Amino acid sequence: MAEIFSGSMNRRSFIQTGLAAFGTLVTLNAGCGAGLTNKDEKQTRLALLADTHIPEDVENNYRGFYPYRNLEKIVPDLVSNSPDGVLIAGDLARLTGQPGDYANLKKLLSPVAEKTPVFMALGNHDDRQNFLKVFGDMAGVRAVREPPLRDKHVVIVKKTSTRVIMLDSLLYTNKVPGLLGKAQRQWLENYLKECDETPVILCFHHTLSDGDGDLLDVPRLFSMITPIRKVKAIVYGHSHAYGFSEFEGIHLINLPAVGYNFSDSDPIGWVEARLKSRGGDFVLHAAGGNLDRDGSVTKLTWRKG
Ligand SMILES: [Zn+2]
Repeated sequence: MAEIFSGSMNRRSFIQTGLAAFGTLVTLNAGCGAGLTNKDEKQTRLALLADTHIPEDVENNYRGFYPYRNLEKIVPDLVSNSPDGVLIAGDLARLTGQPGDYANLKKLLSPVAEKTPVFMALGNHDDRQNFLKVFGDMAGVRAVREPPLRDKHVVIVKKTSTRVIMLDSLLYTNKVPGLLGKAQRQWLENYLKECDETPVILCFHHTLSDGDGDLLDVPRLFSMITPIRKVKAIVYGHSHAYGFSEFEGIHLINLPAVGYNFSDSDPIGWVEARLKSRGGDFVLHAAGGNLDRDGSVTKLTWRKG
C-alpha cells in the first residue's frame, strides 16, 4: 500500500487525512493547463519516480551510482517543477527496508513534501512496518484501511482528470517476486465498479511479465481490469528500465530508477506526467545513466470508455 506525507499540515490536508482514515478519497487540487481536446480542461501534473533505493549509508553505491546523491540531485528539480503530487512506485529503501534508509528518504524528500504531497508504494526491498514507523507520523496515514486491506498500504489519489490507485505488491522483503493477492484484487475490483468514470491509473512496484521475479498474479489482474474500461494505464518500476508498452489498450509505463540502472542503455531519473481526461504526455527528466532520451515526450491516448 502507499503512503502520503506532507511537510506542512494545513487545514485542508487535515480534512483529507480525516477522510482518508475512513477509507475515502484523498482529493487534491489540480493545476491548470491546455487540454488534449478541450483548451479549458484542467491538467494534472504528477512526478513519477521509482526505485529510489535510499541507503542509510550515504556512500553506499552500486554500478558507480550513489542512490542517495541521485535523489539529492533530483529534489531541487522536483521542487521547481512544482507538480500536483509526487508518486514513488516502490523500492524506496536500499535492500531490506531499514529504519535508517527511510529516515534518509524522509530527510531528502522534506523540501518536496513542504510544497506538494508525496505518495509512496512499497516494493520488494521495503519493509512495511519500518516504513510506517518512519512515515506514519507525518500528516497521518492517508491510506485505505478497510478490513481486507489492513495489512497492505493502498492509497487513492483523486485529481481532476485522473484517479491513481497505488497498490501494494510487496510479498517478501529482499526477494524479487511480488503479489497483490486475492484480497487486494477483490477490493480493487469492487472499488473500480463503484467509483465514477474518472480515468484510472494503477501504480505499484512490480513488472508485468511472466517471469519468476515479476508480479505473480498479473494474469488475474489483467483479466479483472481489461473489461473495466476506466482503467487506462499501469505505472510501475522494478526493472530499472524506462519503457512503454500496451496490453489490450491499457498503457504499461515502466519508470526508470532513481537509484541506479541495471543496463548502461537506461537513464536514471523521473517522469513528469501531464494528464488530461483523454490521455497524457510523459516527459523524461534524466539525471544520469543514458541521457539520450532526456526531455523526450511520449504522448499516450487512453482507450475509450
Ligand atoms: Zn529496484
